[in-house]
Formats: sequence, C-alpha cells, structure tokens
Amino acid sequence: MDELAGDMIDGVWRALGEIEELAAARADGHEADPTDELDALRRHGCLSAPLRPDGAGFVYHYPARRALPVFVALGGADLSLGRLFEGHANALQLVSLFGHAEQKAIVRARVEAGALMGVWGADGRPPFAAHPTEDGTLRLAGSKRYASGLGAVSLALVPLTDAEGRLCLFLIDVDEPDRLDFSSWHMRGMRASRSGTFRFDGMEIPAGAALGAPDDYRREPFFMGGIWRCAAVQLGAIERIVRGLVEGLRETGRLDHPLQSARVGEAILAARDARLQVEAAARAVEGGEEAELAASLAVFARLRVESAGLAVIALAERGLGLSAFAEDHPLARPIRDLSTYLRQANPDAALLDHARRLSARLPEIFR
Ligand SMILES: Cc1cc2nc3c(=O)[nH]c(=O)nc-3n(C[C@H](O)[C@H](O)[C@H](O)COP(=O)(O)OP(=O)(O)OC[C@H]3O[C@@H](n4cnc5c(N)ncnc54)[C@H](O)[C@@H]3O)c2cc1C
Repeated sequence: MDELAGDMIDGVWRALGEIEELAAARADGHEADPTDELDALRRHGCLSAPLRPDGAGFVYHYPARRALPVFVALGGADLSLGRLFEGHANALQLVSLFGHAEQKAIVRARVEAGALMGVWGADGRPPFAAHPTEDGTLRLAGSKRYASGLGAVSLALVPLTDAEGRLCLFLIDVDEPDRLDFSSWHMRGMRASRSGTFRFDGMEIPAGAALGAPDDYRREPFFMGGIWRCAAVQLGAIERIVRGLVEGLRETGRLDHPLQSARVGEAILAARDARLQVEAAARAVEGGEEAELAASLAVFARLRVESAGLAVIALAERGLGLSAFAEDHPLARPIRDLSTYLRQANPDAALLDHARRLSARLPEIFR
C-alpha cells in the first residue's frame, strides 16, 4: 500500500470517529443538518480518497475491499451521510469512466478543494430538459426531485433521456442556492440527506458539459451494478440495529428469554445473509465479473438488503417494545432513516427483470 493511500484510509477512520459522536449527539428526532459531518469527511481527505491522480485528471480507484468497509461504517454511523458519500463515489466513478480530460481536471480540482458530488436522476414535474440554442449552448428546463445533498453538492451528474430514448449525462455546476426547494422532502427519515428538488429553468450550460456519449451511462456493470454501494450503506444500518437489539435486551436482562433469543437469531441470520450478498456483489461489480451478471447480482443484493432491513426493523421493534419508539432512543433514528432509505426505485420490476436474467445463468451463479 502506498503512503498516500495509507493516510487516506486512516483519515476515513478518524472522520468516522467524529461522525459517530456527532450522530449520537443528534439522536433527538430533529436532525437535519449534515454540515459538521461533511466537514469531518472533508478535513480528513475522504472526499478525494477514491481519486488516484492521473496527469491533471484522475482515475477512480476505490477497490471494493477498501470501499465496502467505509460504506458500511458510514451507514452504521449516519445513514444520511452514507447516502451522500455513496452518491459522491458514484459520480466520481462515472466521471472517471466517461469524462473527457478537461472534465476530469475540473472535477479533481474541485473535489480536492472540498466539493461534494451527486447523481440526480429522478425527474420532477416538469421533468429535466435541455434545448440547444443558436449560440451552441444548452438551455435547461424542468427539475430533478429526491435529489440528495441540496446545497451541499456543488457538482452534479444529471441524466436526460433524449428524443431517441438514449440516456445522456451532463456534468452541471449546481452551486445555486436560489434553485433549491426542500418543500418536497417531508419524509419520516433521512432528514439530514438534504434531499429535495433542484429547478433548472433558464440555466445555460455549454454543449461540452455532456459526459460521455449517449447511453454510455447505461453500460454495465456500473449502471444497475452501482447499487451495491447503496446496499452497503444500508447494510451498515442493519448491523447497527442488530447490535442495538442485542444491547437493549442485555441491559434489560431479557436477552436469554428463548423467544427474544430467537428474534436475535433471526436478525443475525438476515444481517449476515445481506452482508454476504453485498460482499459478493461488490466483488463482482468492482472485480471484473462479466458485466450483465455482475449487475444482476448487485440488484439481487439490493433486494436481499431490503428484505433483511425490513425484517430486522420489525424484530427490533417487537423485541425492544415501546422504549425503541422514544425519539431519543439510540435506535430511533437508524430505524427511521433505514425504513425511508430502503424505498428505492421499483423493487417489483427489479425482481422480475433480474429473475429472468439470472434464471438463464444458473450454472454460473450456483458454481
Ligand atoms: C434518502 C433518499 C435519497 C435519495 N437521493 C436520490 C438522489 O440523490 N438522486 C436520485 O436520482 N434519486 C434519489 N433518491 C430516489 C431514489 O433513487 C428513487 O427514485 C426513489 O427512492 C423511488 O422510490 P419510490 O418508492 O417512489 O419507488 P417506486 O418505483 O414508485 O416504487 C414504489 C412501489 O411501486 C411499485 N411500482 C413501481 N412502478 C410501478 C408500476 N409502473 N406499476 C405498478 N407498481 C409499480 C414498486 O415495485 C414499489 O412497490 C433518493 C431516495 C431516498 C429515499
């Protein structure tokens, strides 16, 4: 391991220590501002940890064995922060894969100066649109919703489906406070993810803001396959809730009751199962497995994490009882955040589509 990488790994764990303390202090049901936690990531060099300098630009270098423990630990400490860091890593990987030299140089300089990135895909009403102008720029309209990191993210990757149905990506400077709209984010959890709507109406961007060619973004294993990072962050919260269940039962002297022990056993089984799937998906996506197969494994890991998360939340609430519903209970925020963050796009279609794909490849997955 080179010295620089060693420093950054240490930095991540120092930042995590600070973030755990901050998150514990915010366990009051009114947490909404991740500024201090993001500063901890910045100060300890975590935002540029996935970058390996390459000329004036960079390549994304965040092997699963290094990245996975960080995503899991962040998710366990503060799920909103994990979500923000996961989106940042996703954006850096896409710029590394598809960006041109100038875009990579800009992104590297901005991120080394502390910029947070995001990927804002979900369309608002009216949806995001880009119209060519006579002077060769693109005039933007519409909005993206459920965009996390509003006001904290300063560079976003924004996808657009063009008239031919191709998916195009744009790298856009979103450091514009007047365009942020938090009013659509009245969610029970993930309040500190700073999510909401970003309005693009009237913005102009150069045509060179396109990242890669149309449909590059859809290339596997990093399109659907990238969901393994989100699943790893969620896994961190699942394991945290299992630990909280065990600690809570031990403190009240109820751990050895057979029915409570059975609950703990079911929770550990679900969490371990989720972990094994996420680890396998991370290895497949980042480690060179055939692209379509790796993407399917990542989608299935996401679905297993979802079912494991829902099961563990139910077991913890049933096992701990009313005390776990107090707003200042240590598990109240992780449960509220996880039950919100588990709602990712179209789980039914994900199951059907990848069941069909994987059923044609059973010899490869049962080897
Ligand atoms: C904390 C948080 C942060 C986020 N940050 C970002 C971000 O930065 N960028 C971004 O792009 N997105 C972000 N998202 C949004 C996320 O990517 C998804 O778009 C969103 O979570 C979708 O959730 P949904 O429940 O509306 O999904 P839906 O797809 O509406 O699913 C809801 C239910 O309906 C079913 N369903 C879906 N379609 C159909 C259909 N046609 N017919 C019948 N049933 C259907 C599904 O299977 C599911 O059961 C974030 C979400 C969260 C929770």
